[in-house]
Amino acid sequence: MQQASELLSSVFGFTEFRPGQAEIVEAVTAGRNTLAIMPTGGGKSLCFQLPALCRSGVTVVISPLIALMRDQVRALSEAGVAAGALTSGNTEEETNAVFDALHAGELKLLYMAPERLASSGAQQLLSRAPISLIAVDEAHCVSQWGHDFRPDYLRIGELRRALDVPLAAFTATADAETRAEIVTRLFDGHAPETFLRGFDRPNIHLAFEPKNSPRRQILDFAAARKGQSGIVYCGTRAKTETLAQALREAGHPACHYHGGMEPDPRREVEARFQRDDGLIVVATVAFGMGVDKPDIRWVAHADLPKSIEAYYQEIGRAGRDGAPAETLTLFGPEDIRLRRSQIDEGLAPPERKMADHARLNALLGLAEAQVCRRQTLLSYFGEDSEPCGHCDLCDRPPELFDGTEAVRKGLSAILRTGEYFGTGHLIDILLGNATDKVRARGHEGLPTFGVGKEFDKRQWQAIFRQMMGHDLVRPDPERHGALRMTHAARAILRGEESITLRRDAIRAAKSARPVAK
Ligand code: ADP
Ligand code: ZN
Repeated sequence: MQQASELLSSVFGFTEFRPGQAEIVEAVTAGRNTLAIMPTGGGKSLCFQLPALCRSGVTVVISPLIALMRDQVRALSEAGVAAGALTSGNTEEETNAVFDALHAGELKLLYMAPERLASSGAQQLLSRAPISLIAVDEAHCVSQWGHDFRPDYLRIGELRRALDVPLAAFTATADAETRAEIVTRLFDGHAPETFLRGFDRPNIHLAFEPKNSPRRQILDFAAARKGQSGIVYCGTRAKTETLAQALREAGHPACHYHGGMEPDPRREVEARFQRDDGLIVVATVAFGMGVDKPDIRWVAHADLPKSIEAYYQEIGRAGRDGAPAETLTLFGPEDIRLRRSQIDEGLAPPERKMADHARLNALLGLAEAQVCRRQTLLSYFGEDSEPCGHCDLCDRPPELFDGTEAVRKGLSAILRTGEYFGTGHLIDILLGNATDKVRARGHEGLPTFGVGKEFDKRQWQAIFRQMMGHDLVRPDPERHGALRMTHAARAILRGEESITLRRDAIRAAKSARPVAK
C-alpha cells in the first residue's frame, strides 16, 4: 500500500483516498476477485487504474462508454501512463499502434469496448499478451433485466476463464438482484470480495410529505428557497407545463421540460439552467442525463418516483458541490396506483414485473419510514449507518401507534365487499355513511358498517395509504383501483402479526383541511 499511496500523489495528484477507495485498491492489487459498488462520481476509475500500475503486466478495462474511455486514456497518457483503447471509433493506425505497444510489452492499461470481445482475433490477441487483471466498468450492463444490457458483456466471464486472471467489477447500481446477476455472470457464481461505500450524500436533507394540497406544497417549498436553482420532477408532461406556469405566477423564474418537446427548446432550457442562477426547471425524468450543474440547491418531487433507485438518482442531482441542499418528495394513493398499473401494464416478463413491484415497495417503505430516512435509504443499498440528524424524521420523530386494530377493520371491509372497491367506498362503509352506492349494494348491512368511527375520512385515507405503503393492499388496475389484499395482509387479519402506523401522517392529514362531516 506504500507504493499505492505514492502513486496516488505522484501520478494522480491526489493527497488522499476517498472513502472506500483504499480498501478496494488493496484488494484489487492483491489479485482478489472484487465487486465494488460506488455511486457515480465516487471515484471508481482510480480503483482499477492504481492497481494496474502496481501490478506487473497489462490490465484490460472493459467499458461501454467510448467517450469516457478516450478521456481516461488521454488523462493517463498525460500523467505518463502507457494506456491505449480499442473501440469502434479507432482509425486503423490507432488500432495498429495499440497492438504494437501491447506486443512490445509497453502498455499498462488496455481499454476495450465490449463489442471487441466478439471477434476471435481480439480473444487470441489477449491470450498472447501478458494480461494480469480484467477490470469491468459499468458491470450492471451484464444484467439482462437492466436498461443498459449489453449482450457482449456476457462474453466477459468466458474471457476471465480463458485468461485465468482476477477480475474487478465496478458499478453504481446497488440493488441486490443486479448484484446477484453480476456474480453469476462475471464470477461463475463464486462470490467476489464485495465493497459498497459512499452512497451517503450527507449534505442533502431528505423529506417526504403525503400529498394534501400538492400544488400548494410545491409552491411553499419553492417560496422558502426563492432565488435558488431547483428542479421539480412531475409524473406527466402536462403537469410540468401547468406547474411551471403556477411557479411563474408566484414570481419565480421557471421553465418546463419534457421528452415531448423539440430538441431546440430542450437545449435552450438546459443551457439556461446551467447559466442562470435561481432558475426552476419543472420536468419529467427526461431532464437529468445531461444535467451537470454542481449548485442545484433543491429537488422536489411533485409525484412519487418510480423506484427507490430513481429517487436516489433524482435527489442526487442536488448539491453536487457539497454545500447544503434540500429535497421534498410528495406521495399519495394516486401515485401508488399509477406506478403499480404502469408496471402491470408494461410489456416486461413476469419476473421483471415482480422485481419492479419490489423496487416500488422499497420506495413506499421509505415514504412511510418510521425511523431515520437516510438510514432506511442506505440500508436498502446495503450500507449500515447511524441516525443522520439531517432528515425530516430525525428533525421530528414521528409518533407511532399500534395500528393493528385499524388495519384489521380496513382489511375486513375489503374482504367483505369482495375486494371489489376503492378507498372512497370502503371508507364510507367504515364510517357508516349510507350513501346511494352503499345502499344499492346492501353494504349498510355488513358487520363492518360503521365500525371505524373513531377516525374521520382523512384519517382513514392516511391509514389506507400506509397500508398500501406497507404493501398490505394493492390497487387492482383491472378493476379501477379496487383494493386487493396481499399475502402479508392475511397474517394481520388472522391476528398473527401486528403493525405500527405513524400518527403524524394522520394528524397532518387532519390539520391540512377541516373535515366536512
Ligand atoms: P466514477 O466513480 O463516476 O467513475 P470517477 O472515477 O470519474 O468517478 O471520479 C470522479 C471524480 O473524482 C474525478 O474527477 C476524479 O478525478 C475524482 N477523484 C477520484 N478519486 C479521488 C481522490 N482520491 N481525491 C480527489 N479526487 C478524486
Ligand atoms: Zn435521519
